[in-house]
Amino acid sequence: MAGEEIKFEAEVGKILEIVINSLYSNKEIFLRELISNAADACDKLRYLALTVPELAEGGGDFKIEIGFDKKARTITVADNGIGMNREELIRNLGTIARSGTTEFLEGLSGDARKDANLIGQFGVGFYACFSVADHVDVVSRKAGDEIAWHWSSTGAGAFTIEEVTREAQGTSITVHLAKDQSEYLEEARIRHIVQQYSDHISLPIVLKTKDGETQLNKGSALWTRAPKDITEDQYREFYHHVGHAFDKPWLTLHNKAEGKVEYTNLLFIPSSRPFNLMNPDRKHGVKLYVKRVFITDDCEGLMPRWLRFVHGVVDSQDLPLNVSREVLQHNVVVDRIKNALVKRIFTELKKKAEKAPEEFTTFWENFGAVMKEGLYEGQEHRDDILAIARFRTTAGDETATLVDYIGRMKEGQDEIFFITGEDMNAVKASPQLEGFRACGIEVLLLTDPIDEFWIPMVGKYQDKPMRSVTAGGFDLSKIKAAEKSDDQIPEKAGDEIVAKLILAFKEALGEAVRDVRSTDRLTESAVCLVAGEGDMDLHLERMLRRQGHMTVPTATRILEINPAHPLIKALAGMADDLVKKPAIADAAHLLLDQARIVEGETLADPVGFSARLNAALTRSLAA
Ligand code: ADP
Repeated sequence: MAGEEIKFEAEVGKILEIVINSLYSNKEIFLRELISNAADACDKLRYLALTVPELAEGGGDFKIEIGFDKKARTITVADNGIGMNREELIRNLGTIARSGTTEFLEGLSGDARKDANLIGQFGVGFYACFSVADHVDVVSRKAGDEIAWHWSSTGAGAFTIEEVTREAQGTSITVHLAKDQSEYLEEARIRHIVQQYSDHISLPIVLKTKDGETQLNKGSALWTRAPKDITEDQYREFYHHVGHAFDKPWLTLHNKAEGKVEYTNLLFIPSSRPFNLMNPDRKHGVKLYVKRVFITDDCEGLMPRWLRFVHGVVDSQDLPLNVSREVLQHNVVVDRIKNALVKRIFTELKKKAEKAPEEFTTFWENFGAVMKEGLYEGQEHRDDILAIARFRTTAGDETATLVDYIGRMKEGQDEIFFITGEDMNAVKASPQLEGFRACGIEVLLLTDPIDEFWIPMVGKYQDKPMRSVTAGGFDLSKIKAAEKSDDQIPEKAGDEIVAKLILAFKEALGEAVRDVRSTDRLTESAVCLVAGEGDMDLHLERMLRRQGHMTVPTATRILEINPAHPLIKALAGMADDLVKKPAIADAAHLLLDQARIVEGETLADPVGFSARLNAALTRSLAA
């Protein structure tokens, strides 16, 4: 091989290794990937040529040509699109820009069969051709450039790049097929693959044979066809192409709007959650077309950020073809389209929630955390989002809507109770829930980080305030609980001695807590921590501190004690005894540390904790 040799980025190397060595089952999709890239390249040049017409040689007749050579054992996909210069070839075909790649690679198991399946879902684009190739040649000339470049690689470790000539602008990718891959030299096979995967491509895809050229696809943009003429498979393939996705679409919204604004939308909601969904840089996946010409995939105003999992195209009749990206930024037409699309999406989601509640729950598990960002970002769609939001609760495994929750509220309960935390198991085991559970009062269990932020903004639902069970004091006695028989109600230590114990605890703990008080929110545990009324909730405080927001003040918490717990009763019984004062002080510290551990926090003074625990154990064993 001639030319300069350049090593693949480590991540590309890893992906190529899997593509080449694993039992990659769906090899034929390499052709779909090459055609998809070629179509994108033509779309990009068509857009540029709107303002600089001379860029498109040949007057903008874009097409994709497939050729094959049985003797040389090659198949070639050529386009007259935007092309790539040297730097672009190196960057685009030597690195992976897609966010989430690292997480994806970390998620691979090392088991070739499983990984091949995963990689199919992730999609490897251009690199897929190495699953059938001995080596691959790319010759590309960028529109407007004189010189062309030849990129070549076997897929192992490195590629070479050298200057060449190419008659026309665009890119040709020649795949030198491996010994056992002769099927891609058969005309019928190629025809079948293109029709199966690429029929929706809006440019002509032609097959060159010795008898001439034949067009393999319909060549009209899929969204311009009538929905009744489109099969589910065609929708799916189109979704894979626009969404760079590899699952099935869960919801397909294909509509033509006429009236104040005229547009066609073909939008998809995925059935599974993409790897990089929570990445803050991730943009929405809706491409803007004007009168069937691709304009941009980066029109921010077309879809709210909290619907960034939606993929597809919008084709507007009302925007001028030569609309610039700047003009699109604050554009009334774009804004109207967005509002109409959001409305339509909610209508469809509500329908699904009613008709297919289980599917809807999966959807919400996939994308609920993203949609809840919309609660935080503005008032506009709050009611819509809250109406479909699903929550886990202490009532069981089924998720509930807020309306379900309110319908199940107990007599005398006028607030919606919730608890936030990092993971479901830890949250479910929180001591602060014990009293609520004992009284049969339902509590929402929230584990998405965004929950901490939208709740204070939203505050209430249907006039019922939302209230954290880990902040402020509670008087559960005013809520009519499930009747308890007398022997279920545990005996508590007397008020007077509890008051004395509280004084002794306060003296021992000093500044370490804001207050110590008795509570009826505990049934099993001896103690728990809560935030003061109006203070930051415990979980939020931890989260912000972990993220390095050092300005977050360490609000000192309130230690609540359970007067019905045997340990508290025993300690209360000694509260009068001056000799026991040091033991009570040790117990106060140990219980506070225990409450912190249960919260998943680290101890301020682990050495002191160990010393006290040892002393307490020694005393009890010696007794
Ligand atoms: P993806 O298409 O998901 O971005 P690929 O690995 O398929 O990933 O391609 C990487 C990049 O290489 C593309 O984003 C594009 O910029 C460039 N590219 C690939 N094929 C072509 C082509 N035929 N013409 C111009 N650019 C191309």
